[in-house]
Amino acid sequence: MEWPPSFYELRRGIGCAMCQQGRPEATDDGVRFYAGEVSDAYLRRTNIQRGLTVVIWRGRHVAEPTELNDEEAHGYWRDLLIVGRTLEDVLRPVKTNYNVLGNSVPHLHTHIVPRYADDPRPGWPCPFPEEEPPRDARRGAPTRSRCPSNRHRCEVIAS
Ligand SMILES: [Zn+2]
Repeated sequence: MEWPPSFYELRRGIGCAMCQQGRPEATDDGVRFYAGEVSDAYLRRTNIQRGLTVVIWRGRHVAEPTELNDEEAHGYWRDLLIVGRTLEDVLRPVKTNYNVLGNSVPHLHTHIVPRYADDPRPGWPCPFPEEEPPRDARRGAPTRSRCPSNRHRCEVIAS
């Protein structure tokens, strides 16, 4: 199995949806609740995991945090911590995960995933990766599917 051909262009920022969207107050599946100096935080509207938030880097196109200079990285982490602390204050999770993936949308963003006392997979990541990539990922489109436990609302996110 190989990466979809479109991935290599997206990786370089060609056709990057996150670059093209600017800094909207809402996206197709999220509502912005924090507009930081270098990023925006969107609370997901889909019924996945309470408090699931996506923080999107709003500077020039980069796919990896290693592409940020020190000042940019400091600003991005500052925003992530502000958002993470806000979610902790409001939702009181047992644990919070910061997932930097970008496997189908290779523009720097972080999924902040609150984990609760009734978590479906304590001690394990959630979203939990499937053994086989979802079929849509092979075509280069972001896909979502239910976590294998089938007991909770976590979702495997291929972005
Ligand atoms: Zn981009």
